[in-house]
Amino acid sequence: MTAKIISGTETAKAIREELKVEVAELKEKHNVVPGLVTILVGEDPASQSYVSAKNKTAHALGIHSEQVTLDADTSEKDLLAMIDKYNKDDKINGILVQLPLPKHIDEGKVLYAIDPGKDVDGFHPVNVGKMVLGEQCFLPCTPHGVLELLIRAGVETSGAEVVVVGRSNIVGKPMVNLMLQKREAGNSTVTICHTRTKDMTAHTKRADIIIAAAGVPKMITADMVKDGVVVIDVGVNRIGMSESGKAILAGDVDFDSVKDKAAAITPVPGGVGPMTITMLMKNTVQAAKQAAGLI
Ligand code: NAP
Repeated sequence: MTAKIISGTETAKAIREELKVEVAELKEKHNVVPGLVTILVGEDPASQSYVSAKNKTAHALGIHSEQVTLDADTSEKDLLAMIDKYNKDDKINGILVQLPLPKHIDEGKVLYAIDPGKDVDGFHPVNVGKMVLGEQCFLPCTPHGVLELLIRAGVETSGAEVVVVGRSNIVGKPMVNLMLQKREAGNSTVTICHTRTKDMTAHTKRADIIIAAAGVPKMITADMVKDGVVVIDVGVNRIGMSESGKAILAGDVDFDSVKDKAAAITPVPGGVGPMTITMLMKNTVQAAKQAAGLI
């Protein structure tokens, strides 16, 4: 079997085109311009590149974007004051604090300080709670991106056995909750695996859909999956450096062997990655519409 490649790059491109039109209409019909601020504390190169990609994408879609970079030794109090300022700023609909934060800052405290109506990352407990209850809220960007990939690739999730590998607060746990909701791309029977799982292959082997988010390069191999499985690889792992100095990336799935058994599979790079930023933009547009009373 040769797997259909589910391209996140292509899907993200299509969604961005839709968003561009929506943003233009919002401005034309309602004089609403969605606004996003990204706040980065410190100089971690990976975080810098994520934040700059987010601002670039926002700009390309017509979203007003502001980029704040604070010194690594910025105090928690000053960061909270900055968030408070943006909570009250009408031009800003979405506030994104780039994680991880330096160790002297309490991440939980910072995420709780963001107005839930501007929490476009979907990490505030109010949004997490609403997500679990199946209420309208900001869905966390990476799991939301996975849902969109499944929907647009026409993958049947209703009644499917779904195995999620990884139980982090930003990927695994929300993923499991979303897959069991009574909604599109939900209604699945879900299993979650982690480092204490006794026999992971016993679970992955009966999965119709595997969503891998463990952060371990190529850990899901062909002998762990059944024929016809759909594989969504969230993992992004740096496994080396090319001669030109570019990072060589691998997912959590051994793409080369698994693709011969799978019905469909996402590549790394070009799979879930481009969807995450796109869903951030979608949430920012949603926040602007909510703030304007349009939804
Ligand atoms: P994380 O916070 O480190 O969590 C990893 C999870 O995987 C943990 O629950 C851990 O179990 C589990 N795990 C680790 N090794 C395992 C193993 N050998 N067997 C079974 N379970 C194992 O990571 P994360 O933030 O969720 O990210 C996961 C991966 O997704 C990373 O590669 C990250 O770079 C990538 N990612 C990609 C995007 C994107 O946009 N494409 C976004 C976010 C994350 P325990 O809980 O038992 O420790």
